[in-house]
Order: sequence, then C-alpha cells, then structure tokens
Amino acid sequence: MSGCGCGCGSGSGGPFSKGRDLVEFVFHAHGGAIRDQKILQGPLATVCQGCGTPFALETYLGTCPGCGGVHAVAPMAPTSANIQFAGSDYRLPL
Ligand SMILES: [Zn+2]
Repeated sequence: MSGCGCGCGSGSGGPFSKGRDLVEFVFHAHGGAIRDQKILQGPLATVCQGCGTPFALETYLGTCPGCGGVHAVAPMAPTSANIQFAGSDYRLPL
C-alpha cells in the first residue's frame, strides 16, 4: 500500500515531505483518491508560491488559477502554512 497520511506510509516521500515530494505524495495517496477530495476543514486561503496570485485551495491538491502551479497540503495537517508548491516547472502526470 502507498502512504495515506495516517502514519502507515512507507518508502520515499510521505506526509511530512516538502515541496514536490509532498505534492507527489498527495497525488498518489490512496491510489489517487485523496487528491480530489475537498479539504475537511474548508478551503485554505493561500498565495501561489510561483506567481503570487491569491487563491483558495479547496482540495488536497490544487492548481493556481494564474499559472497552473501545483500545490498540495498534507491530509492530516491542512493549514495554509503547510501548503507545499511543486515548482513552477512541474505539471501533474495526467
Ligand atoms: Zn501561480
């Protein structure tokens, strides 16, 4: 099983990763079932770490409306301070 943010994760990456590692962790968590879920505590107001556009992160993984930069937050600690940015050159492997 892949990591799921509940402490049972394994391998590289995990809920305490930073930047792109965290984004990829959330992307793959629970076989992709986490990334499209609404954040339980509600949307997180943030500012794009790539272009500075303010936006609300509504799901655990989301993109900036300005530049498409990918942001994610760990499911067990969804706060604005914990939002990680994958980098301006990163695009989701879809
Ligand atoms: Zn942006």
